Amino acid sequence: MDPENSPKKQSLIETRGCRDVSFLDLCSIDQVTKKDLVLIYDIARKFREYKTYKINFNKGNSLVNAFFESSTRTMASFDLSAKQLSMDTTAVGSNCSIKKGESYIDTIQTVDAMNVKVIIIRTKESGVPEMLARHTSASIINAGDGWHEHPTQALLDGLTMLDYFNSTNLKGRTVTIVGDIMHSRVFGSLVRLLKKLDATVRVAAPETMIPKHANKFGVNLYYNVEEAIRGADIVYALRVQKERGANGFIPSLREYSKMFGISRARLDLAKKNAILMHPGPITRDIDVHSALSVVDKQSHILQQVENGASVRKALLWLIGNRYDGKVKSYKKI
Ligand code: ASP
Ligand code: ASP
Repeated sequence: MDPENSPKKQSLIETRGCRDVSFLDLCSIDQVTKKDLVLIYDIARKFREYKTYKINFNKGNSLVNAFFESSTRTMASFDLSAKQLSMDTTAVGSNCSIKKGESYIDTIQTVDAMNVKVIIIRTKESGVPEMLARHTSASIINAGDGWHEHPTQALLDGLTMLDYFNSTNLKGRTVTIVGDIMHSRVFGSLVRLLKKLDATVRVAAPETMIPKHANKFGVNLYYNVEEAIRGADIVYALRVQKERGANGFIPSLREYSKMFGISRARLDLAKKNAILMHPGPITRDIDVHSALSVVDKQSHILQQVENGASVRKALLWLIGNRYDGKVKSYKKI
């Protein structure tokens, strides 16, 4: 831990400049304003520069990871981020009382009664974090709800894209999202964020994997992946969500890979300086060809992971430690 008033601490405080985000819970990218984005990214960039630097900004606050569905990177990222802000952390989920018949609300209110500051929620059902946010004093952050949203994934993706193009928006940039749009909560958050950043969004997938509502986001739909990638600035691949029954929407994974998997030849159709992104976990040789996955110079997949920690630290500091003194309240019903 750095001494009080170290230059790094001072520079973080100056970067924040007494600003607060407009929300107390984060369930959807719809809640995030353009001003919030600037603030989150200003701070995230500083945290990224300081890597695992430990600071006492959230000392005395606790965070609970309530993951009712499996996770590797998201949970580790929240946990380490909280610890680097000096929060106490614990996890409930995999062996929890939901399995004994307890409701989500009862489980989360039990956790809330321990006076925790932030609860991170992941569930296989859509809409649970938003419902729980109405029943807790703790702030709720959605870490992925069913087929709906995964807002911190989109925030870290946005930072990765903006920094690569050294820009404050994605005007004039084309992002091609390829894969299982239908079952992807990553898509749900990413498309909302890309629209806020003024990107042109193309979506390429088998017809059966494009939900009817995809059109409402103003994206361009393609059933031919080559056409969708031609001239793109960013190629964003998604995993086929087998655990959500996605296999029933395609003839076979082999065929999917043949038609939509990102290979060298397909990536070469994008602009010369285009980048490849993926939220992880990758199914090698199905959604992305092995040789491209993380080692290729166009792949920014590990940069996404690094940015994840920085964005989550920024969020936890902003949500857990407000200058405006706003706290959550809710009516017990
Ligand atoms: N869906 C998971 C996550 O975002 C992937 C993983 O955990 O590896 O955390
Ligand atoms: N990690 C992401 C999620 O939890 C993407 C994936 O699992 O494919 O949604």
